Amino acid sequence: MNLMPEFRCHRPTTLEEAVRLKAAAASARFVGGGTDLLVNLRRGLGEPTDLIDLTAVADLAAIRYQDGALWVGAGVTLADLARHPEILASYPAVADAALAVAGPTHRAAATLGGNLCQDTRCIFYNQSEWWREGNGWCLKYLGDKCHVVVKSDRCYATYHGDVAPVLMVLGAEAVLASPRGVRRIALAELYRESGAEHLTLGPDEVLAAVALPPPAGRRAAYAKARVRDAVDFPLAGVAVALRRDGDVIGELGVAITGTNSAPLMIDTDALIGRAWNDEAAAVLALSLRKTANLLRTTITGPKYRRRAMQGMTRRLMDTLWNGR
Ligand code: FAD
Ligand code: SF4
Repeated sequence: MNLMPEFRCHRPTTLEEAVRLKAAAASARFVGGGTDLLVNLRRGLGEPTDLIDLTAVADLAAIRYQDGALWVGAGVTLADLARHPEILASYPAVADAALAVAGPTHRAAATLGGNLCQDTRCIFYNQSEWWREGNGWCLKYLGDKCHVVVKSDRCYATYHGDVAPVLMVLGAEAVLASPRGVRRIALAELYRESGAEHLTLGPDEVLAAVALPPPAGRRAAYAKARVRDAVDFPLAGVAVALRRDGDVIGELGVAITGTNSAPLMIDTDALIGRAWNDEAAAVLALSLRKTANLLRTTITGPKYRRRAMQGMTRRLMDTLWNGR
């Protein structure tokens, strides 16, 4: 690990001050719990001139109902998210996903905003500086070639966040603040399929909150495959939200993580109005195959992760369909 680079540290107490500070310094970075960013900085991945610690911004720490949705501030820690009574009562899959992140000490500091905005990962990127230098760097940082997709002009580093897919299948919106005001977008639009630039946030924007609509009869669940159950990123993760209308699927959302440079929604249109059975499972499996782009960005190979993703999806669907 490197020593931390030199930086100025700011601790704003309002959102306005936070976005003003961000707009003023091109390389400034926000810090929530620091459990992703500080590890990367100690590996020489980035040299921000300014760090903007968001933990004193009271507006970011609230969970409250507003405009018919449950607003969860980006500064809420994953530990608090997982034990909040409204989350446990109406969105238990969100609590499950939060509890699936890393270990208890991480979750005590890690924030929802940091989880959603965490960097993408790759075995050629999440390495010490001397290791990366020895391998001639790579496209994502300082280099000009990709070791995973040779001759590619884009980075395929993978998004491994656990919470985003669950929020996406529940129809969550991201609330973004900047010096120009506040805007709301579907959470899926916070991401793009580019390993080096996977967030669509503007340079002066902060993720202020996530707005969760009422569950409206949907039941949701999340599953992840990982090497170590105690502390580990998803090798592949799947979230499903299902509303069963009698004998048919009334509404269905499926999202994946750990597979592409962004958490992605799967096309499920062909399944609406159908019963859940082996034929429907084959349709969903094809849709998953079309969207997931598993590459050698993790130590565990794509073949296992692909099969785990398919297996977990089938199991989650069976469970939710049968009301378990
Ligand atoms: P930070 O490190 O503070 O920030 C992460 C990124 O988000 C930074 O780029 C920061 O600038 C940006 N950011 C933070 N807040 C905002 C905001 N409000 N608006 C805009 N940008 C913002 N993650 C998982 O999802 N699942 C895992 O299983 C998992 N396992 C881990 C295991 C280990 C050993 C480690 C070290 C990390 C692991 N992580 C995992 C990654 C990380 O700990 C979590 O994603 C955590 O939730 C990040 O939150 P944070 O507040 O600490 O983020
Ligand atoms: Fe680097 Fe390629 Fe990995 Fe991106 S996918 S981090 S460019 S090796």
